[in-house]
Amino acid sequence: REQQLEKAVNALRNSKYTIAFTGAGISVESGIPPFRGENGIWAKYDSQVLDLDYFHENPKESWSVIREIFYDYFGVAQPNDAHKVLGRMEQQGLLKCVITQNIDNLHQAGGSSVVYEFHGNSQRMVCTQCGHYFPSQDVNFQKLPVTCPKCSGLVKPDFTFFGESIPTEAYAGSLEAARNSEVCLIIGSLGEVMPAAMVPWEAKRNGATIIEINPKPSNFTGPLTDIHLVGKASEVLLALEQRL
Ligand code: NAD
Ligand code: ZN
Repeated sequence: REQQLEKAVNALRNSKYTIAFTGAGISVESGIPPFRGENGIWAKYDSQVLDLDYFHENPKESWSVIREIFYDYFGVAQPNDAHKVLGRMEQQGLLKCVITQNIDNLHQAGGSSVVYEFHGNSQRMVCTQCGHYFPSQDVNFQKLPVTCPKCSGLVKPDFTFFGESIPTEAYAGSLEAARNSEVCLIIGSLGEVMPAAMVPWEAKRNGATIIEINPKPSNFTGPLTDIHLVGKASEVLLALEQRL
């Protein structure tokens, strides 16, 4: 373990362009469970509420589950040490950007300013009729479905639903950063969700060293990862930061 940490520290010190690719695992210590697995959100709820067609056909039913998961439950989450270490690394010039699959806004809350949100952000709302954007703080969740303050159209959280395409700017920005990277940190991602999982592969294809932080093996571990730091995101990132 100490030897792996030293290897990672050397790679990070020598890198002129480091990126971090994060998944649900980095927010587990903030109290947000992943979607999959036995304690996952989809063990308790039906994932169809995030299916775009289902949402349009059953806006009220979808919204009541969405409110419970993403606003009653995730709404109170705070960034943990893993998010904060990434924020400090950016400030110190040790990290160019975070590419996240998460929608919880915790990277920004943890001090990161360059964040590519591959799947959007739950803290922003978008009107499906007129395209008006507004913050989730302005929403009255007592009255469902949520409707637009401008045109009364159906409002949707501005994160990617099943059957929806990836936000184009985040997509292009992520792949470009991956192509420029010399080190790619993969933190708390299983690597099952496409096309997001392409990002670290793109980094590797361009010669980046892949450092993975995850208590368990993922789809990346065997074929892609150069240095696997086994452990929880906050614990491992604090250990890395101390040695940098
Ligand atoms: P995922 O690919 O994001 O995988 C979760 C991974 O986290 C697993 O490999 C697990 O071993 C690892 N992990 C668990 N605890 C950890 C810890 N303390 N430190 C580091 N790693 C840890 O899986 P998913 O939940 O199926 O994700 C599906 C999609 O939904 C992804 O796009 C994901 O980002 C998104 N999602 C986002 C949130 C959020 O915004 N916080 C929550 C759930 C899912
Ligand atoms: Zn509208």
